[in-house]
Amino acid sequence: MKSRTKVVVIGGGIAGCSTLYHLTQEGWSDVVLVERNELTSGTTWHSAAQVTNFGMNQTMVGLKTHSINLYKELSEDPEYPINYHHGDGGIRLANTEAQMQGYRHFASMARGMNVHFEVIDAAECARRHPLISTDNLIGGLWDPLDGDIDPAQLCQALARRARKAGAEVYRNTPVTGLIQHQDDTWTVQTDKGDIDCDIVVNACGYRVNEVGAMMGVHHPVASMEHQYFLTEEIPAIKDARHRMPLIRCPISDYYCRQEKHGLLVGFYEQDCKTWGMDGIDHNFVNALCPDDLDRVTDVLEGAFARMPALMEVGIHTIVNGPITYTIDGAPLVGPIPGKRNAFCIIGLRAGLGEGGGHGWLLAQQIVHGEACYDTWCLDPRRFTGHANVELTALKAIEDYQNEFRFHFPHEHRPAGRPAKTTPLTPLLAAEGADFTVVNGWERADYFKPDPEFRHTPSFHFDEAFDVVGAEVRAVQQAVGLCEVNGFNRLEITGADRQRFLDRLVCGAVTKRDGRVGLGYLLNHHGRIKAEATIANLPASDRGPHRVWYGSAAASEFHDMDWLQQHIQQGEHVQIRSLTNDQTILVLAGPKARDVLATCARGDWSNEGFPWLSLRECFVGFAPATVMRVSFSGELAYEIHVPNASLYAAYLALRQAGEAHGLKLFGARAVESMRMEKGFLHWKADLITEFDPYETGLSRFVKLEKGDFVGKDALIARKAKGPQRRLVTLQLDCDHAPAHAGASVMLGDRVVGTVTSGAWGYRVGMNLAYAFVAPELAENGNQMQMDLCGDIVQARVIPPSPYDPGFEIIKS
Ligand SMILES: Cc1cc2nc3c(=O)[nH]c(=O)nc-3n(C[C@H](O)[C@H](O)[C@H](O)COP(=O)(O)OP(=O)(O)OC[C@H]3O[C@@H](n4cnc5c(N)ncnc54)[C@H](O)[C@@H]3O)c2cc1C
Repeated sequence: MKSRTKVVVIGGGIAGCSTLYHLTQEGWSDVVLVERNELTSGTTWHSAAQVTNFGMNQTMVGLKTHSINLYKELSEDPEYPINYHHGDGGIRLANTEAQMQGYRHFASMARGMNVHFEVIDAAECARRHPLISTDNLIGGLWDPLDGDIDPAQLCQALARRARKAGAEVYRNTPVTGLIQHQDDTWTVQTDKGDIDCDIVVNACGYRVNEVGAMMGVHHPVASMEHQYFLTEEIPAIKDARHRMPLIRCPISDYYCRQEKHGLLVGFYEQDCKTWGMDGIDHNFVNALCPDDLDRVTDVLEGAFARMPALMEVGIHTIVNGPITYTIDGAPLVGPIPGKRNAFCIIGLRAGLGEGGGHGWLLAQQIVHGEACYDTWCLDPRRFTGHANVELTALKAIEDYQNEFRFHFPHEHRPAGRPAKTTPLTPLLAAEGADFTVVNGWERADYFKPDPEFRHTPSFHFDEAFDVVGAEVRAVQQAVGLCEVNGFNRLEITGADRQRFLDRLVCGAVTKRDGRVGLGYLLNHHGRIKAEATIANLPASDRGPHRVWYGSAAASEFHDMDWLQQHIQQGEHVQIRSLTNDQTILVLAGPKARDVLATCARGDWSNEGFPWLSLRECFVGFAPATVMRVSFSGELAYEIHVPNASLYAAYLALRQAGEAHGLKLFGARAVESMRMEKGFLHWKADLITEFDPYETGLSRFVKLEKGDFVGKDALIARKAKGPQRRLVTLQLDCDHAPAHAGASVMLGDRVVGTVTSGAWGYRVGMNLAYAFVAPELAENGNQMQMDLCGDIVQARVIPPSPYDPGFEIIKS
């Protein structure tokens, strides 16, 4: 066994084997995998091992495509071919029109990744799968590449190829401890001796938290028991001249695929069970949980009704094993929060289908610092601090119960809520707030006109359309108040803070006291890493000179990691998070100044407090830091208040607002207004796949300033020219907003992808942002959009259709 290597991957299931193989593919051969038992002895050996191309966003579709292509190649290996039923096809069933709309959207999204799903009716489903009945069925989504693979052969093949490329695999070698040294390297302690290395990867399946504990980390991953059974031979299958397609059923929560001449049927029962919550038996190896078919009777009936052949055939094997879930259902693949040189690939609930792709994206991140796709949907840092064991288990149960029921727009599932609130949450609830959840924070989405009001989550505009319109109108015509909680705020102090930020931001950084600016941070590839509001607070009785670095609600761990990593030896910079301590009250509208002047001393005139100013003051008797910035496009103030004084500030503003018709508004109104202004959202429109030029942010780049992170790469990218350009589109459609991922078309050709969409109430336009082929980015260009299966006209318009001259905002 080596005593020193570059990377130690811990765990020899699909996650670990795929990571090891892909590290060698990215050019690192001095890498090892350590496995406590034999390869695949965790969950992988007993997986149903279905491999679908279906995903909720383009990153997931892209990584699954990678799996499929890789597995196909392995199945055709002339020396060691593996068993892979590639292209049996699969159907996701639907019995409501709303589900069909969703499938049409996912088909539109996948098309942009060169993946071609079909949305088919019930009769076509039955034609393609002769064993199913069409009762209570409208249709389904057809994935032509669906199939299944032999999980053990797959892992062996990946390990074999990795070894061939120089990697080593140590079986029967449990990791017992992890020590991180001052220089951020690691010692991995095993039963057979220590291995020093630069980087560790946790790929330990359901034992993720045993290894997490060795580095002092709790990962938000919980295991559920999950069962399938295998039937005896079914004559109709034996006699069929093709393999049966796979079935996934959100109506009765089961899946089904052909296994030899019988069927394999797996269940996601409502009466489900967590597993291993109080520790896992050391000897649970190559093992299963006891059979418990009684638990799945609720879903069995649905499966039998859909496939009557099941009633006439015996069951010969039952498999019940642990499967892992995270709090939002997507795996954790990437850097471990708060740790250096530590990565994970965990929480895989569909690890056989996805594992090839996850290992690929993780290896790219380890070797190059970034992957080819934006990996935020997988980033382990996307939950900040609230994801404890209880919350994880509640969300795991909810996700398991809804396995095949995708989230609809504006659907906010109830488990594990509320996790993060402010003193205002109960008040806003009493005012009729319908809450959305942002990284655990309860945020008012809109205010219900009456207590019984409900919206039906839909891909079309829903019942709240006019309610949100009224909120926007109130802001535009008078004044509105909105709570923005959980906004990330890092306080940066120290003599070198400005120099430090200047090195990280690609444009000019405001240095003047009392001023606020917007900056973009690039990665080493010159693509967008982060967006920050940079506010310079003067020295005062509240503290010394400091910068408030403000960024998106879930970005706290992500941005903190990035900033911390770039503090140079000897540089005087300290960073602390105030994210959980302060909340923003946004006061917006033509009467905003009057309201603020009523409850806060000082000169709030345009001359006394112009656009992009900052001032420490009191609102009522709440200490506040007021910034003259606006995401709505109206005259607006962001009032930052410590949570202890939030209620006091709120009361003062409400009272002052009475005379001016102040109304509350929520996140949906904000979304509409920011799109009318051309403002962008981190991880919707600002992603690591594009640079600031492609994203329409040239004005925030200053190449002539000194060096900054990503500068050389950006210059090289600029010379090559853009791959895509972000544009604003006006849609010829009034029944549905554009959804992120939807394809922009020119005839039959996909020429772009939507990042955001919303109705613009002030301009009366259905708006979308999309990255499109650069030659099509000119204003006035006409394209089409596949909007949930409807082909609608989309025209490029200049950004910021509302107040394009920015006169209102600066008034
Ligand atoms: C019944 C069932 C059906 C499923 N069906 C499908 C399906 O159809 N399609 C699909 O895509 N997915 C399916 N899954 C999920 C899929 O099987 C898992 O997502 C996948 O196998 C997880 O792989 P892994 O490598 O993350 O974990 P594991 O396979 O559990 O591997 C983790 C490895 O880490 C090792 N390890 C742990 N601790 C240590 C240590 N201290 N030192 C060294 N090694 C250690 C373990 O021994 C183990 O080998 C199914 C799961 C179940 C339970």
